[in-house]
Amino acid sequence: MKPKNSAENYGKCLCMQCPLYIDCNKAEAERIFCARTKSECAMDSGKMCRCPIDCPVYSENKLAGAYFCITGLKE
Ligand code: SF4
Repeated sequence: MKPKNSAENYGKCLCMQCPLYIDCNKAEAERIFCARTKSECAMDSGKMCRCPIDCPVYSENKLAGAYFCITGLKE
């Protein structure tokens, strides 16, 4: 299920602690890519996505896959 694009999920999102997260994302205030859309920034897919590891938004919404900042959420 696609997570809600809510202030609650924005606060729970671990994107900012993800190895892929860069200054460009920060400057654009980009987060919760799973609930919104992919990033406009140049994300490095060679790094390990944090989403499936320990993000509460991921587990609470029973998501599958990863790298939502690159691909968006495929429903
Ligand atoms: S699953 Fe990934 S994109 Fe979604 S809120 Fe968590 S860290 Fe952010």
